Amino acid sequence: MDIIKNLALFFLIFFCVFAEGFSQEAITEKELESHIQFLTADSLAGRFPGTKANQQVVNYLVNDFKSNNIPTLIQEFEAKLRKDTTSVTTWNVLGLLEGKDSILKKEVIILGAHYDHLGKKRDSIYHGADDNASGTAALLEIAEKIVAHKNEIKRSVIFIAFGAEEQGLLGSQFFVENPIVPIKNIKLMINMDMLGSLNEKSHVYMGGAGTFPGGEKLMKKLGKPNHVNPVVHAGSVDGSDHVSFYKKGISVLGIHTGGNENYHKPTDTIETLNISGEVNVANYIYQAIMEIATSEWKLKFIPQD
Ligand SMILES: [Zn+2]
Repeated sequence: MDIIKNLALFFLIFFCVFAEGFSQEAITEKELESHIQFLTADSLAGRFPGTKANQQVVNYLVNDFKSNNIPTLIQEFEAKLRKDTTSVTTWNVLGLLEGKDSILKKEVIILGAHYDHLGKKRDSIYHGADDNASGTAALLEIAEKIVAHKNEIKRSVIFIAFGAEEQGLLGSQFFVENPIVPIKNIKLMINMDMLGSLNEKSHVYMGGAGTFPGGEKLMKKLGKPNHVNPVVHAGSVDGSDHVSFYKKGISVLGIHTGGNENYHKPTDTIETLNISGEVNVANYIYQAIMEIATSEWKLKFIPQD
């Protein structure tokens, strides 16, 4: 009897330790891949706004934030679709992390990525693996890593998975019109849209690095320790959700690993991605946030031409 009890206890402890190992601080290829696999599944049919699949994605994001003890908030809004101008209900998913410094915590850094994609056209599913399951996966993994170091952050960080980007940056537009903190407190927005196609030269491209003091220097400096090769533009603020923030006079950084032949095609699938490369890109972005969030770094908006 005792042997059976001991054996049961042994398995219980073993199971706890083993289960603990699944959610880990380090950003791993396996974790990124499993998020991307979920997001690009045929059953989600290209993550189109207003569909049942949209709700499933929202649940997945909420559950992931919650499993990392990140307080979450869902913002509901109406999105006017490009194809027929009808409106559907969709959502932004927010994770909130408060800074530890009594003064600096009022200042907010936003890390964002859109989770929606183009849905289905005729019989083809637009999986949107690079665009932007890759950025959404990075958002979840970077959030997990920052939470593991939450005692070090002075400023607050808000993680946002935006809905309806492909319909005209609608989720980010809704957020800047309905910010959950005073908009003047948002000091920097970092956007990730397409992180899964790191090339053999490890080029990570970004626009907006000149919109905050020391941005260009910082983003160049962090390349080598993270095994990426940054291509840093001071301006060139275009193409995705960070534009909504820039238009409100907020410093931004829009990061991606470059366009590719599968862009906005049904062939944008998980098999085409460089997920081990994305680990480096995600660590690079993680480190940029930590440098700014944990220091007295002076942040102010610098407009670019
Ligand atoms: Zn995109």
